[in-house]
Amino acid sequence: MLETINIVWFKRDLRTNDHAPLLNASQQKLPLIPIYIVEPIYWESDHSSRKHWHFIHDCLIDLNDELSSLGQPLVIQVGDSVEIFSKINEKFSIKNIYSHEETGNIWTYNRDKRVQEWCKKNDIGLKENPSNGVVRNLSSRDDWSKIRNKRMLEKIHPKPKFINPISQNIHSKLPSKDNILFGEPLLGRVQRGGRINAIIDLKSFLNERSSEYLYHISAPGKSEKYCSRLSAHLAWGTLSVREIVQSIKKRRLQLSVDDKKKYGRNLTAFNSRLAWRCHFIQKLETQPDIEIHCMHSAFEQLHKDDACDEKFLAWSTGQTGYPFVDACMRNLISEGWITFRMRAMLVSFASYQLWIDWRLSGNHLAKLFTDFEPGIHFSQLQMQSGVTGINAMRVYNPIKQSIEHDPNGEFIKKWIPELKNIPIEFIHEPWKFQQNMLDKSPVIIGQDYPLPIVDHELEAKNAKEKIYEVRKSKKFKHESRIIFKNHGSRKFKSKPKPRNIITDKQLKLF
Ligand SMILES: Cc1cc2nc3c(=O)[nH]c(=O)nc-3n(C[C@H](O)[C@H](O)[C@H](O)COP(=O)(O)OP(=O)(O)OC[C@H]3O[C@@H](n4cnc5c(N)ncnc54)[C@H](O)[C@@H]3O)c2cc1C
Repeated sequence: MLETINIVWFKRDLRTNDHAPLLNASQQKLPLIPIYIVEPIYWESDHSSRKHWHFIHDCLIDLNDELSSLGQPLVIQVGDSVEIFSKINEKFSIKNIYSHEETGNIWTYNRDKRVQEWCKKNDIGLKENPSNGVVRNLSSRDDWSKIRNKRMLEKIHPKPKFINPISQNIHSKLPSKDNILFGEPLLGRVQRGGRINAIIDLKSFLNERSSEYLYHISAPGKSEKYCSRLSAHLAWGTLSVREIVQSIKKRRLQLSVDDKKKYGRNLTAFNSRLAWRCHFIQKLETQPDIEIHCMHSAFEQLHKDDACDEKFLAWSTGQTGYPFVDACMRNLISEGWITFRMRAMLVSFASYQLWIDWRLSGNHLAKLFTDFEPGIHFSQLQMQSGVTGINAMRVYNPIKQSIEHDPNGEFIKKWIPELKNIPIEFIHEPWKFQQNMLDKSPVIIGQDYPLPIVDHELEAKNAKEKIYEVRKSKKFKHESRIIFKNHGSRKFKSKPKPRNIITDKQLKLF
């Protein structure tokens, strides 16, 4: 007679606190296998990378420690999920598989459907709990924020006190950080993962770093310290959004009058971004194909037959000849994180000035972002590339951004050592530097560092015209209304309308 067991399947929820599937399963009294599956095909995809694995690896070590202290260590297996569950079901009799609803990419979506079918065929229960504020089968976007806010107020699920262990041994091995399964060798560094580091980062942000959050949020070089840096923890689930929302609330209650001045506005802004997070992930949950299709179908053919290999290579390696853009890309390659505004600028520059398809630039960035979160990523990519049909065009001017956010060129010089000796007045536009042939030149532009790959103003204008042309038609507006109904933010209650009319202000470069 086979031992009857339950399984808790960990995916992007690598924690034991506020984990409804784990708590529910632990209360069933049956022996329990907590499992994490390394799926080789997923790791071959265009979005996954060794940076992700490094972070996850740290998380799995902490998770295993926690589960072991509760009575049953984590089981880590490599292979196809259905095959792994089938093998376990030959050795044990699985009653239920518990997991969180994952809003992943198309591959994980299809994988989940396969697991669902397999469970049905084998008479195994599949019990899924919602994660974050993302609502599965949402009937109307109008109701979304009410449901999300209610969830954020619900009691945090406590960590189980005990997990009933299985009686026989089961194979488990954590692949190493340098295992070839995880693609290209690591370039640069990766933020430390794991629940312990998540708590350290959360506390240091709420108690100290958030005091200068808004002040430095867009400053490259400073934002990495003053932003929360919780994105990777949220993406891989070492913290739940609800845990953070409720920690902000607690922190607010502790603030003195003076502290309120220092932290109040910053914590409000931080809290809103956590809501944005759920808002953006909801878009992918509602429409999984936004990973591969433009939200507005009119933009689908925009990049057809465009050859951009050379431009893509220059952009993706930080060699466009625009120092601020290149410094941001090199910084990202090295650190696996960059702040929101710089992500937006990198995408805007690729999509508009270089006319690169957002799917191509997006895959490159997904691999570089340690915090890759499909729902935020694909929605933001489309928004910053002007293909949603419901957002204004935001074209960033790389020189203006450079002057505003790196006035002394310190960030540029750090990431582009070729320019470290160029006179400061030329740091934002090094091609204007006319070297005196008699002097020993500090840098030869076009040789030590590239000339600009395109004329950014001209190309931005061309791109905007092409997009504007698409937006003009009547049919365009009709589809935009439907998109707004499905995905638009309901923040502005009065007469929401798709922003299809471009004002002079919007035509300016940001
Ligand atoms: C093209 C593009 C792609 C992006 N891809 C991702 C991604 O794959 N994963 C990811 O977590 N974020 C992504 N972002 C959003 C944002 O840049 C990051 O969440 C943020 O920089 C992470 O740093 P932090 O945790 O210190 O953020 P904080 O400023 O401290 O914000 C706290 C949390 O709020 C959420 N958040 C912040 N800004 C946004 C935003 N604009 N939209 C949605 N949620 C937000 C994140 O979960 C973040 O961890 C992307 C932005 C752009 C423009």
